[in-house]
Amino acid sequence: MKISTHLVSAPLHTPFVTALRTATHADSLLVEISDGSVSDGSVSGWGEAPQVWKVTGESLAGAQACVEGPIAAALDGLEPDDLTEALRRVQNAAVGNFGAKGAVDVALHDLAARRRGQSLHNFLGSTVDTVATDVTLSVGDADALATAARARVADGFDVLKIKVGTGDARADFERVRQVRAAIGPGPSLRLDANQGWSRRDAVTAIRAMEDAGCDLELVEQPVPAADLEGMAWVTDRVSTPILADESVFGVRDLVAVIRYGAADMVNVKLAKCGGLGPARTLLELAREHGIQTIIGSMMEGPVGVGAAAALVSAYPTSAVNDLDAAWWLREAPVTGGIRYDGALIHLPSAPGLGVTGLTA
Ligand code: MG
Repeated sequence: MKISTHLVSAPLHTPFVTALRTATHADSLLVEISDGSVSDGSVSGWGEAPQVWKVTGESLAGAQACVEGPIAAALDGLEPDDLTEALRRVQNAAVGNFGAKGAVDVALHDLAARRRGQSLHNFLGSTVDTVATDVTLSVGDADALATAARARVADGFDVLKIKVGTGDARADFERVRQVRAAIGPGPSLRLDANQGWSRRDAVTAIRAMEDAGCDLELVEQPVPAADLEGMAWVTDRVSTPILADESVFGVRDLVAVIRYGAADMVNVKLAKCGGLGPARTLLELAREHGIQTIIGSMMEGPVGVGAAAALVSAYPTSAVNDLDAAWWLREAPVTGGIRYDGALIHLPSAPGLGVTGLTA
């Protein structure tokens, strides 16, 4: 097998604004693993490590060094069809580096599926070829959010996610109330505080929204990631389901959330846990303990989101998933792959992720 990496920067059609940053591009490291067969042309599998300073803290340069260094060394001499052993070696090649591990894990799965002539979702056991997603609204004032919310509903999305936790719980309440008033009772509304509230602010804000009839589907990561006691305190005091995101990277974190009773749900992401293999373990553990699941992604393109969508189709989650990232791209860094139609992601029937190469 031959591993190569490509740094890509894909422009967005609309700036993606959060409390922490304004993104105009999705920057990623793409990993390409070729099986090196020459008789009938070599086949390549693709994976993606997104740039996420504020969640994983891993850089693209670091991901590239990890893929080209310890991971490539661990896979040296291995046959591409020895998938189980290859995946084990990837996870053991380095501590941390979940973005790099996730990209290689996905590329190995993609390559294995392609060599069998199967789509990735069929390879994972799915017969479903569409997956629904929510869409996130960029941070803005109440008027701008209400306008954007109506536009996204017109685009065909019926689950909207609003970023809150921007420092003023009162303003958060007002934004959410106005968005609900703008879209009416039909669409689902979920909030992501990205660790931005104190436990008391979280309970005050969520209860106020409950009392005002905002009809929240869930609230994601209300308090800092390490404060599981605080998150359990919130979960106990509101009726809206609480979703853990930044608190859960891998199995050890999910076990802690379960022990504390810190959340009702967990958001599983390939770049946090290290790929499809670890993600399946998390989904199964959550299910055994009555924790609801969704699968999300970072700001990434059709490779990373396509892999997450293939996983969802094979391992159904509890709620609509959070896979709109590639919808924001004006121009994808690769050709082929998933296609959005409103809130539906169409999985390709072509082998693997359906990606045919880098965009010229
Ligand atoms: Mg989140």
